[in-house]
Amino acid sequence: MAVEKDLKAILGKLKYSDDAKVVQQITEQMRQVQARMAGIKHKLVVMSGKGGVGKSMTTVNLALAFARQGSKVGLLDVDLNGPCVPRMLGLHGQSLTMRPEGAIPPVGPLGVKVASMDFFLHDASPVRWKGPMDVSPVWLGLMEMNVIREFLADVAWGELDYLLVDLPPGAAADKPPVIAGFIPDLAGAIVVTTPSEVASDVVQKSVTYARDMGIKVLGMVENMSEYRCPSCGEVNELFEGNTEAMCEALDLPLLGRIPFDRKLARTFDKGEPLLDETYPTIQRYQEIAGRIKTLLDYKRVLADKL
Ligand code: ADP
Ligand code: MG
Repeated sequence: MAVEKDLKAILGKLKYSDDAKVVQQITEQMRQVQARMAGIKHKLVVMSGKGGVGKSMTTVNLALAFARQGSKVGLLDVDLNGPCVPRMLGLHGQSLTMRPEGAIPPVGPLGVKVASMDFFLHDASPVRWKGPMDVSPVWLGLMEMNVIREFLADVAWGELDYLLVDLPPGAAADKPPVIAGFIPDLAGAIVVTTPSEVASDVVQKSVTYARDMGIKVLGMVENMSEYRCPSCGEVNELFEGNTEAMCEALDLPLLGRIPFDRKLARTFDKGEPLLDETYPTIQRYQEIAGRIKTLLDYKRVLADKL
Protein backbone atom coordinates (compact mmCIF):
# COMPACT_ATOMS: atom_id res chain seq x y z
CA MET A 1 0.00 0.00 0.00
CA ALA A 2 1.38 3.41 -0.99
CA VAL A 3 0.42 4.99 2.35
CA GLU A 4 2.43 2.39 4.19
CA LYS A 5 5.49 3.00 2.05
CA ASP A 6 5.32 6.78 2.51
CA LEU A 7 4.91 6.48 6.25
CA LYS A 8 7.83 4.11 6.55
CA ALA A 9 9.98 6.61 4.70
CA ILE A 10 8.92 9.46 7.02
CA LEU A 11 9.30 7.46 10.22
CA GLY A 12 12.64 6.17 9.04
CA LYS A 13 13.85 9.72 8.93
CA LEU A 14 12.50 10.41 12.43
CA LYS A 15 14.33 7.34 13.80
CA TYR A 16 11.22 6.45 15.72
CA SER A 17 11.87 3.16 17.54
CA ASP A 18 8.30 1.85 17.39
CA ASP A 19 7.72 2.60 13.74
CA ALA A 20 6.39 -0.81 12.75
CA LYS A 21 3.44 -0.51 15.13
CA VAL A 22 2.67 3.06 14.13
CA VAL A 23 2.65 2.17 10.45
CA GLN A 24 0.39 -0.78 11.18
CA GLN A 25 -2.00 1.35 13.22
CA ILE A 26 -2.24 4.08 10.60
CA THR A 27 -2.67 1.61 7.76
CA GLU A 28 -5.49 -0.02 9.70
CA GLN A 29 -7.11 3.38 10.34
CA MET A 30 -6.92 4.31 6.67
CA ARG A 31 -8.50 1.01 5.71
CA GLN A 32 -11.34 1.66 8.11
CA VAL A 33 -11.88 5.18 6.77
CA GLN A 34 -12.18 3.67 3.31
CA ALA A 35 -14.77 1.15 4.52
CA ARG A 36 -16.74 3.83 6.38
CA MET A 37 -16.89 6.04 3.31
CA ALA A 38 -17.57 3.30 0.77
CA GLY A 39 -21.25 4.26 0.44
CA ILE A 40 -20.54 7.90 -0.50
CA LYS A 41 -20.75 8.81 -4.19
CA HIS A 42 -19.00 12.20 -4.25
CA LYS A 43 -16.56 13.45 -1.61
CA LEU A 44 -15.63 17.10 -1.78
CA VAL A 45 -13.41 19.24 0.41
CA VAL A 46 -13.89 22.97 0.84
CA MET A 47 -10.74 24.95 1.52
CA SER A 48 -9.42 28.49 1.62
CA GLY A 49 -6.12 30.26 1.80
CA LYS A 50 -6.82 31.70 5.23
CA GLY A 51 -9.52 31.80 7.90
CA GLY A 52 -12.50 34.11 8.09
CA VAL A 53 -13.32 34.21 4.39
CA GLY A 54 -16.58 32.30 4.85
CA LYS A 55 -15.44 28.75 4.21
CA SER A 56 -17.78 27.25 6.80
CA MET A 57 -20.64 29.46 5.61
CA THR A 58 -20.08 28.23 2.05
CA THR A 59 -19.76 24.55 3.03
CA VAL A 60 -22.94 24.62 5.11
CA ASN A 61 -24.96 26.39 2.42
CA LEU A 62 -23.72 24.13 -0.36
CA ALA A 63 -24.64 21.09 1.74
CA LEU A 64 -28.14 22.52 2.21
CA ALA A 65 -28.32 23.34 -1.52
CA PHE A 66 -27.50 19.74 -2.53
CA ALA A 67 -30.06 18.48 0.00
CA ARG A 68 -32.69 20.82 -1.48
CA GLN A 69 -32.06 19.20 -4.87
CA GLY A 70 -33.06 15.88 -3.34
CA SER A 71 -29.58 14.47 -2.66
CA LYS A 72 -28.50 12.63 0.48
CA VAL A 73 -25.84 14.81 2.07
CA GLY A 74 -23.25 14.58 4.84
CA LEU A 75 -21.23 17.43 6.28
CA LEU A 76 -17.93 16.84 8.01
CA ASP A 77 -16.31 19.57 10.10
CA VAL A 78 -12.69 18.71 10.88
CA ASP A 79 -11.69 21.95 12.53
CA LEU A 80 -10.11 21.05 15.89
CA ASN A 81 -9.97 24.50 17.40
CA GLY A 82 -12.95 26.32 15.97
CA PRO A 83 -15.56 23.80 14.83
CA CYS A 84 -18.62 25.94 14.09
CA VAL A 85 -20.77 23.92 11.70
CA PRO A 86 -23.06 22.45 14.44
CA ARG A 87 -23.67 25.89 15.90
CA MET A 88 -24.58 27.30 12.48
CA LEU A 89 -27.09 24.50 11.94
CA GLY A 90 -28.57 24.62 15.44
CA LEU A 91 -26.97 21.27 16.39
CA HIS A 92 -24.56 22.51 19.07
CA GLY A 93 -24.76 20.27 22.15
CA GLN A 94 -25.80 17.23 20.12
CA SER A 95 -23.58 14.22 19.81
CA LEU A 96 -22.72 11.22 17.72
CA THR A 97 -24.64 8.10 18.76
CA MET A 98 -22.31 5.21 19.49
CA ARG A 99 -23.60 1.96 17.98
CA PRO A 100 -21.86 -1.32 17.25
CA GLU A 101 -21.72 -0.32 13.55
CA GLY A 102 -19.99 2.98 14.34
CA ALA A 103 -20.63 6.56 15.43
CA ILE A 104 -23.91 7.71 13.90
CA PRO A 105 -24.00 11.43 13.02
CA PRO A 106 -27.00 13.54 14.11
CA VAL A 107 -29.32 14.75 11.37
CA GLY A 108 -29.69 18.49 10.84
CA PRO A 109 -31.95 20.66 8.65
CA LEU A 110 -33.09 19.17 5.31
CA GLY A 111 -31.80 15.77 6.46
CA VAL A 112 -28.10 16.71 6.33
CA LYS A 113 -25.97 14.39 8.48
CA VAL A 114 -23.35 16.27 10.49
CA ALA A 115 -20.13 15.05 12.12
CA SER A 116 -17.97 17.59 13.89
CA MET A 117 -15.11 17.80 16.34
CA ASP A 118 -17.48 20.09 18.24
CA PHE A 119 -19.35 16.99 19.42
CA PHE A 120 -16.30 15.98 21.43
CA LEU A 121 -15.44 19.35 22.92
CA HIS A 122 -17.74 19.98 25.82
CA ASP A 123 -16.63 23.39 26.94
CA ALA A 124 -15.27 26.49 25.29
CA SER A 125 -11.62 25.55 25.80
CA PRO A 126 -9.47 24.77 22.78
CA VAL A 127 -7.94 21.36 22.25
CA ARG A 128 -4.93 21.02 24.53
CA TRP A 129 -2.65 18.05 24.39
CA LYS A 130 -1.67 16.38 27.64
CA GLY A 131 2.05 15.89 28.08
CA PRO A 132 5.14 17.96 28.42
CA MET A 133 4.67 21.54 27.30
CA ASP A 134 7.90 21.43 25.37
CA VAL A 135 6.38 18.90 23.01
CA SER A 136 7.68 19.84 19.59
CA PRO A 137 5.46 21.25 16.83
CA VAL A 138 6.23 18.14 14.79
CA TRP A 139 4.68 15.93 17.45
CA LEU A 140 1.75 18.29 17.94
CA GLY A 141 1.09 18.03 14.22
CA LEU A 142 1.31 14.24 14.32
CA MET A 143 -1.06 14.02 17.29
CA GLU A 144 -3.54 16.30 15.62
CA MET A 145 -3.46 14.28 12.41
CA ASN A 146 -3.93 11.10 14.44
CA VAL A 147 -7.03 12.46 16.16
CA ILE A 148 -8.49 13.46 12.80
CA ARG A 149 -7.77 10.04 11.27
CA GLU A 150 -9.30 8.29 14.25
CA PHE A 151 -12.37 10.49 14.00
CA LEU A 152 -12.73 9.73 10.28
CA ALA A 153 -12.41 6.02 11.01
CA ASP A 154 -15.30 6.13 13.51
CA VAL A 155 -18.13 7.90 11.70
CA ALA A 156 -20.61 5.61 9.95
CA TRP A 157 -22.12 7.68 7.11
CA GLY A 158 -24.15 5.02 5.35
CA GLU A 159 -25.27 5.81 1.79
CA LEU A 160 -24.74 9.41 0.66
CA ASP A 161 -24.72 11.27 -2.66
CA TYR A 162 -22.41 14.01 -1.37
CA LEU A 163 -20.06 14.46 1.55
CA LEU A 164 -18.77 17.99 2.02
CA VAL A 165 -15.73 18.45 4.20
CA ASP A 166 -15.01 21.76 5.91
CA LEU A 167 -11.22 21.71 6.21
CA PRO A 168 -9.50 23.80 8.90
CA PRO A 169 -8.13 27.13 7.67
CA GLY A 170 -4.69 26.89 6.14
CA ALA A 171 -2.57 28.66 8.73
CA ALA A 172 0.15 26.50 7.26
CA ALA A 173 -0.92 26.12 3.64
CA ASP A 174 0.23 22.50 3.57
CA LYS A 175 -1.99 21.19 6.38
CA PRO A 176 -5.43 21.21 4.73
CA PRO A 177 -4.28 19.24 1.67
CA VAL A 178 -2.67 16.66 3.99
CA ILE A 179 -6.00 16.19 5.76
CA ALA A 180 -7.77 16.05 2.40
CA GLY A 181 -5.38 13.21 1.58
CA PHE A 182 -6.98 11.12 4.36
CA ILE A 183 -10.22 11.02 2.39
CA PRO A 184 -10.24 8.17 -0.10
CA ASP A 185 -11.44 8.72 -3.69
CA LEU A 186 -11.78 12.45 -3.27
CA ALA A 187 -13.74 13.99 -6.16
CA GLY A 188 -12.11 17.36 -5.70
CA ALA A 189 -11.75 20.62 -3.83
CA ILE A 190 -13.75 23.84 -3.87
CA VAL A 191 -11.74 26.93 -2.96
CA VAL A 192 -13.45 29.83 -1.19
CA THR A 193 -12.03 33.30 -1.35
CA THR A 194 -12.97 36.92 -0.84
CA PRO A 195 -11.94 39.39 -3.52
CA SER A 196 -9.51 40.88 -0.98
CA GLU A 197 -7.63 37.61 -0.60
CA VAL A 198 -7.19 37.45 -4.33
CA ALA A 199 -4.87 40.44 -4.13
CA SER A 200 -2.46 38.41 -1.99
CA ASP A 201 -0.90 35.10 -2.93
CA VAL A 202 -2.58 32.88 -0.31
CA VAL A 203 -5.25 31.59 -2.68
CA GLN A 204 -2.70 30.77 -5.31
CA LYS A 205 -0.57 28.96 -2.73
CA SER A 206 -3.43 26.81 -1.45
CA VAL A 207 -4.42 25.84 -5.01
CA THR A 208 -0.80 24.96 -5.82
CA TYR A 209 -0.42 22.86 -2.64
CA ALA A 210 -3.65 21.03 -3.33
CA ARG A 211 -2.61 20.26 -6.91
CA ASP A 212 0.83 19.13 -5.73
CA MET A 213 -0.95 16.64 -3.47
CA GLY A 214 -2.86 15.31 -6.47
CA ILE A 215 -6.16 16.93 -5.45
CA LYS A 216 -8.31 18.15 -8.32
CA VAL A 217 -9.46 21.71 -7.71
CA LEU A 218 -12.95 21.95 -9.22
CA GLY A 219 -13.43 25.69 -8.95
CA MET A 220 -13.57 28.84 -6.90
CA VAL A 221 -16.39 30.49 -4.97
CA GLU A 222 -16.06 34.20 -4.37
CA ASN A 223 -17.60 35.19 -1.04
CA MET A 224 -18.48 38.68 0.22
CA SER A 225 -18.42 40.01 -3.34
CA GLU A 226 -20.63 43.00 -2.71
CA TYR A 227 -22.89 44.59 -0.15
CA ARG A 228 -26.44 45.74 -0.73
CA CYS A 229 -27.54 48.51 1.60
CA PRO A 230 -30.72 47.31 3.33
CA SER A 231 -32.17 50.82 3.56
CA CYS A 232 -31.42 52.38 0.16
CA GLY A 233 -30.80 49.23 -1.89
CA GLU A 234 -27.53 50.54 -3.33
CA VAL A 235 -25.04 47.79 -4.21
CA ASN A 236 -21.36 48.40 -3.46
CA GLU A 237 -18.30 46.27 -3.94
CA LEU A 238 -16.50 45.50 -0.67
CA PHE A 239 -13.00 44.69 -1.92
CA GLU A 240 -11.00 45.42 -5.01
CA GLY A 241 -9.43 42.11 -6.08
CA ASN A 242 -10.14 40.58 -9.46
CA THR A 243 -11.27 37.00 -8.85
CA GLU A 244 -12.00 36.39 -12.52
CA ALA A 245 -8.40 37.19 -13.50
CA MET A 246 -7.12 34.96 -10.69
CA CYS A 247 -9.34 32.08 -11.86
CA GLU A 248 -8.12 32.52 -15.39
CA ALA A 249 -4.48 32.52 -14.29
CA LEU A 250 -5.07 29.33 -12.31
CA ASP A 251 -7.21 27.78 -15.07
CA LEU A 252 -10.16 27.35 -12.72
CA PRO A 253 -13.87 28.02 -13.22
CA LEU A 254 -15.45 30.71 -11.06
CA LEU A 255 -18.41 28.74 -9.70
CA GLY A 256 -20.27 31.76 -8.38
CA ARG A 257 -20.34 34.89 -6.29
CA ILE A 258 -22.04 35.30 -2.92
CA PRO A 259 -22.77 38.79 -1.64
CA PHE A 260 -22.16 39.91 1.91
CA ASP A 261 -25.60 39.29 3.38
CA ARG A 262 -26.53 40.50 6.84
CA LYS A 263 -29.53 38.22 7.11
CA LEU A 264 -27.38 35.21 6.23
CA ALA A 265 -24.79 36.10 8.91
CA ARG A 266 -27.36 36.76 11.61
CA THR A 267 -29.48 33.68 11.09
CA PHE A 268 -26.50 31.32 10.96
CA ASP A 269 -24.88 32.96 13.99
CA LYS A 270 -28.09 32.23 15.90
CA GLY A 271 -28.16 28.61 14.76
CA GLU A 272 -31.31 29.20 12.72
CA PRO A 273 -30.18 28.44 9.18
CA LEU A 274 -31.86 30.26 6.35
CA LEU A 275 -33.73 27.61 4.37
CA ASP A 276 -36.04 29.67 2.13
CA GLU A 277 -35.16 28.65 -1.42
CA THR A 278 -36.73 31.77 -2.93
CA TYR A 279 -34.30 34.03 -1.03
CA PRO A 280 -31.80 35.51 -3.58
CA THR A 281 -28.56 34.54 -1.74
CA ILE A 282 -29.84 31.00 -1.24
CA GLN A 283 -30.58 30.87 -4.99
CA ARG A 284 -26.94 31.76 -5.66
CA TYR A 285 -25.87 28.75 -3.58
CA GLN A 286 -28.32 26.57 -5.53
CA GLU A 287 -26.72 27.71 -8.79
CA ILE A 288 -23.21 26.93 -7.49
CA ALA A 289 -24.34 23.47 -6.34
CA GLY A 290 -25.82 22.92 -9.80
CA ARG A 291 -22.51 23.83 -11.45
CA ILE A 292 -20.57 21.49 -9.15
CA LYS A 293 -23.01 18.69 -9.97
CA THR A 294 -22.52 19.31 -13.71
CA LEU A 295 -18.72 19.24 -13.30
CA LEU A 296 -18.89 15.96 -11.37
CA ASP A 297 -21.29 14.36 -13.87
CA TYR A 298 -19.03 15.47 -16.73
CA LYS A 299 -16.03 13.97 -14.97
CA ARG A 300 -17.90 10.70 -14.56
CA VAL A 301 -18.88 10.57 -18.25
CA LEU A 302 -15.25 11.23 -19.22
CA ALA A 303 -14.00 8.54 -16.83
CA ASP A 304 -16.47 6.03 -18.30
CA LYS A 305 -15.26 6.81 -21.83
CA LEU A 306 -11.57 6.44 -21.04
P1 ADP B 1 -14.21 30.62 7.84
O1 ADP B 1 -14.84 29.26 7.98
O2 ADP B 1 -13.58 30.83 6.51
O3 ADP B 1 -13.27 30.95 8.95
P2 ADP B 1 -16.88 31.59 8.41
O4 ADP B 1 -17.71 30.83 7.46
O5 ADP B 1 -16.91 31.16 9.84
O6 ADP B 1 -15.38 31.72 7.91
O7 ADP B 1 -17.30 33.11 8.28
C1 ADP B 1 -16.71 34.13 9.09
C2 ADP B 1 -17.80 35.10 9.54
O8 ADP B 1 -18.31 35.80 8.42
C3 ADP B 1 -19.00 34.41 10.20
O9 ADP B 1 -19.46 35.21 11.26
C4 ADP B 1 -20.01 34.33 9.08
O10 ADP B 1 -21.33 34.37 9.57
C5 ADP B 1 -19.70 35.59 8.29
N1 ADP B 1 -19.98 35.43 6.85
C6 ADP B 1 -19.40 34.56 5.99
N2 ADP B 1 -19.88 34.71 4.74
C7 ADP B 1 -20.79 35.70 4.79
C8 ADP B 1 -21.65 36.34 3.84
N3 ADP B 1 -21.65 35.99 2.54
N4 ADP B 1 -22.47 37.33 4.28
C9 ADP B 1 -22.46 37.71 5.57
N5 ADP B 1 -21.67 37.17 6.51
C10 ADP B 1 -20.85 36.18 6.15
MG1 MG C 1 -14.60 27.82 9.48
